Amino acid sequence: MTNTINPVIPYIEGDGIGPEIWQATKKVVDAAVNSAYQGTRKIDWLEILAGGKAYNQTGTWLPDATLEAIREHKIAIKGPLTTPIGEGFRSLNVTLRQELDLYACVRPVRYFKGVPSPLKEPEKTDMTIFRENTEDVYAGIEFAKDSSEVQALLAFLTDKLSVTKVRFPETTALGIKPISQAGSQRLIAAALDYALEQGKTGVTLVHKGNIMKFTEGGFKNWGYDYIEKNYSQAFTMNQFKQLSAKGGKEKAEAALAEAQAAGKIIVDDVIADNFLQQILLYPEKYQVVATTNLNGDYISDALAAQVGGIGIAPGANINYKTGHAIFEATHGTAPDIAGNGWANPCSLLLSATMLLDHLGWFEASQLITQAIEQALETHLMTHDFAQMLKIDALSTDAFAEQLVRFVTK
Ligand code: NAD
Repeated sequence: MTNTINPVIPYIEGDGIGPEIWQATKKVVDAAVNSAYQGTRKIDWLEILAGGKAYNQTGTWLPDATLEAIREHKIAIKGPLTTPIGEGFRSLNVTLRQELDLYACVRPVRYFKGVPSPLKEPEKTDMTIFRENTEDVYAGIEFAKDSSEVQALLAFLTDKLSVTKVRFPETTALGIKPISQAGSQRLIAAALDYALEQGKTGVTLVHKGNIMKFTEGGFKNWGYDYIEKNYSQAFTMNQFKQLSAKGGKEKAEAALAEAQAAGKIIVDDVIADNFLQQILLYPEKYQVVATTNLNGDYISDALAAQVGGIGIAPGANINYKTGHAIFEATHGTAPDIAGNGWANPCSLLLSATMLLDHLGWFEASQLITQAIEQALETHLMTHDFAQMLKIDALSTDAFAEQLVRFVTK
């Protein structure tokens, strides 16, 4: 991706509905880039293989050449991939994230007028999730019931650590949840940097530290510690608590008011279960959210549902230090509708706008966002939304053609 006018960007078409939404996305992105820059910039798309197409053509699900191409070109975009079924197969998505150490899963969630939502005021939901992407129970350290590994681990826990709390040792499976200071802090730093860049005034650390004090509680404590040492533009509710304990609540309130008046980012924390009810009751309270891997998985889908579902939820997996990033549809391969022309391309297309923003091609990105706003507001939509509203649907391709008209007009 060295050429800034004509960058080479690898893409993985994906399985199931992947080819349909990719064709739609490519069409709209190319039209928007052409329209925004009058033909002076152009993306040179490079197909790379993963998933079913890779397996059929090369006999492997994730060829080395695919990882090499992403390493070389730094960024890529991908459709959904089938997770091969069978023992020993890891999700291709998890493998890509771990191989490239894409530690931040970034998911902006906003409402588009016209989209059916279960909320009365879905427009109040407007936040960006930073989900830690490499640690937690996703590290894949899990052992089956009756395995020799479980027996060895149980013996170690009992003999060396005097653990007596495994309720049914005879029939238990075990998993390990690694959460580190380094992993937590780099993710939280990414969330703070994003908040600063975007002029946001709130960052919330979401954790389950009341129960898992060292892992989830560590995430929160290391986060506060890092922010207080490194971000003079932030004020934390941890500082508020300390001031309150030392000098009384009034002093703390005054410091908070001063920080707010100075436009500082206010950093607080919320326990994950409470957060899931807060986002339904008071979504407007949250702007940028940093959280651990499993919490982030649940939260992202819950938030996506609030604004219309996974068909319109974009995402990016980013390593801010190496610059590697994969922009991707957050949904799966939707085998139930593949080939019907029912697929909504918005998730992949909005992920492409994140890619364009990443390139600094904001004009093209905005053209696409505006086109989607215009289409959905006037109820030009694919089957998923149209069926809920009991209106006629556009096929994936016709929807893309409509967006092309909007971006070129
Ligand atoms: P799914 O996301 O594919 O489908 C869930 C439901 O949402 C289905 O009813 C589907 O029709 C609908 N849906 C999803 N995307 C849509 C879109 N763009 N437009 C309209 N409707 C859409 O989840 P699943 O059925 O649990 O998984 C199917 C396969 O996808 C599995 O192999 C799974 O491992 C894989 N998967 C891949 C990813 C990824 O590549 N990032 C993510 C999740 C699941």
